[in-house]
Amino acid sequence: MTAEPAPHLRCPLCAGANACAPARSGTFDEPCWCRDATFSVTLLARVPAPLRGVACVCAGCVAADTGSRGARA
Ligand SMILES: [Zn+2]
Repeated sequence: MTAEPAPHLRCPLCAGANACAPARSGTFDEPCWCRDATFSVTLLARVPAPLRGVACVCAGCVAADTGSRGARA
């Protein structure tokens, strides 16, 4: 671990590219896949506190979380 803040373009869970348009442009006016994604409480709880609400989780981690919770039969 380094003392540097992680770039907002990377997923705080897997360090992969999160493809978040607002993170890249710096404005929430950008349309992005994360607008339609569901970020569960358990998923967000896995994000390190300093990055929570700062770095966007990637689509892969969101899909893995929603798929593993078995919320949909
Ligand atoms: Zn990820």
